[in-house]
Amino acid sequence: MRYLIAANWKMNKTVAESVEYIEKFKPMVEDIHQVDIMIAPSFTALSSVSLELNNTKIKLGAQNMYHVDRGAFTGEISPIMLKELNVEYVILGHSERRHIFGEKDELINKKVISALEYGIRPIVCVGETLEERELGITLNVVERQIKMAFAGVYPDIGLCDIAYEPVWAIGTGKNATKEQAQEVHHFIRTLINELSKGNDETTRILYGGSVNENNAKDLISQKNVDGFLVGTASLDPEKFYKIITHS
Ligand code: PGA
Repeated sequence: MRYLIAANWKMNKTVAESVEYIEKFKPMVEDIHQVDIMIAPSFTALSSVSLELNNTKIKLGAQNMYHVDRGAFTGEISPIMLKELNVEYVILGHSERRHIFGEKDELINKKVISALEYGIRPIVCVGETLEERELGITLNVVERQIKMAFAGVYPDIGLCDIAYEPVWAIGTGKNATKEQAQEVHHFIRTLINELSKGNDETTRILYGGSVNENNAKDLISQKNVDGFLVGTASLDPEKFYKIITHS
């Protein structure tokens, strides 16, 4: 399986800063062929970054999308708009979307179905809060999120990737241990294998949550960790490059 190392820049970097980053980053990863690399900039930088990534192997991702192709949805971005910019991946159900903007499993499911219709590969984020972990219901939460996100599209799970991102590890500097990650990743692999009736071979299960250049090697050593979704550390091209080379 080809691992995927993905950058989620969140609400960071202006257009000028994004272009500057890509110009620096492109030559650094020119000779890296063994993993897929994806960058998800802000929506305002998507068009410029798309031009910058033309004729490179670096894939372009969006951080979110709405599931309808056009219409009266103030402030939203449609899959058609993403396709026009050669966006290949879309991050859906990120914990910040779920917790700050109130996205529910049902909406995430609609977005997954829509992204698949338009040939955009969803990276569906799941993960428990600290409270849920302490209650011992981590696996139940992840199971619910996965079953609902992929409702109606179980045979197509292979066209999607999944990111396990424990909410307590995101942006906190406190990553899951490799054992904690492996436990949940193994659970997800078994679950999606069952749901998709074995059609999950091309699904990468990424780990996200305070991944950095120091813990990447340890985390990726786990059998069911197939890549990373990186926030903070991806904002620095040198750090992101190190995470890629350690994977
Ligand atoms: P972080 O963010 O690397 O800053 O913890 C990860 C994410 O939210 O995807």
